Amino acid sequence: MSQIKCIGILTSGGDAPGMNAAIRAVTRAAIYNGFEVKGIYRGYKGLITGEIAPFKTQNVSNIIQQGGTILKTARCQEFKTPEGRKTAYDTLVKEGIDALVVIGGDGTLTGARIFASEFNFPIVGLPGTIDNDLFGTDTTIGYDTALNTIMEAVDKIRDTATSHERLFFIEVMGRDAGFLALNGAIATGAEAAIIPEISTEVDQLEELIKNGFRKSKNSSIVLVAESPTTGGAMHLAERVQKEYPQYDVRVTILGHIQRGGSPTAHDRILASRMGSAAIDALLEDQRNVMIGIRNNEIEYVPFNKAIKNDKPIDRELLNTLRRLSI
Ligand code: ADP
Repeated sequence: MSQIKCIGILTSGGDAPGMNAAIRAVTRAAIYNGFEVKGIYRGYKGLITGEIAPFKTQNVSNIIQQGGTILKTARCQEFKTPEGRKTAYDTLVKEGIDALVVIGGDGTLTGARIFASEFNFPIVGLPGTIDNDLFGTDTTIGYDTALNTIMEAVDKIRDTATSHERLFFIEVMGRDAGFLALNGAIATGAEAAIIPEISTEVDQLEELIKNGFRKSKNSSIVLVAESPTTGGAMHLAERVQKEYPQYDVRVTILGHIQRGGSPTAHDRILASRMGSAAIDALLEDQRNVMIGIRNNEIEYVPFNKAIKNDKPIDRELLNTLRRLSI
């Protein structure tokens, strides 16, 4: 049986809708199992500055529907240094925190893995990122909400694109992953998705777009993942416009609206299940694992696996997009 008495929670790195639902779930499941809970503010920074407060059930009331994170988030360079991590460890000892649940993306889990092995400290991670780029879970907390935000925005752009018979390049987030662009394209009936996992040349793109216009479509929409590999929407649009001046090309960069908003039911349920599973994991003496849900089953994914393995794009999705955009 675990010797843990007090669990600290933090959110770190890029924020994602559903982080609050996760904070609520971890707090309530911990209290339900007799643990004390402390909220750590501003990610790993709070461990260095000591911004920490006790959390009771009422601290997490009425937040399941709120976007953002009540614990705030930050990027903390100091935590990347051994001295910074030692300060963080001293804070945990001083606060009587003997396990951590960290909610964040790839960087957050990398930091957690290093810290856990340096100090033999129990940490469980929850995948909180709109990018869906963590291996070992079908989706990450925030991804579904961001996808729905993209869908609503692109539907609106489609109205104006159709009225003016324009070709739109719409840039979406995703860092080095194309999940938002590819699934966003399928959900909006876009003509193509340019994603870092698959190289696309301008002439291939032209083929797709020409097909679209030829088949009596009067607008074309291409979703572009923001990654350096794709070059981004602006860069692509400039290249296409230069080679095909007959097109009326426009660019929209959706930007930070993708990170905000009330989480969807999917993300609230995912965050609630994962938060509750994080406490089960600690009760079972699991450590240095990320909670994943695959095929509707909770899985404990070692940090190494979650971070290091690239999550593959499903070819079937690509084929579906191609077939349906003719
Ligand atoms: P995300 O978690 O969304 O991927 P970041 O990549 O910005 O966001 O990482 C969040 C934080 O995690 C960083 O600001 C830093 O404090 C910590 N972190 C990231 N990489 C490392 C690392 N290699 N060593 C220690 N801490 C790290």
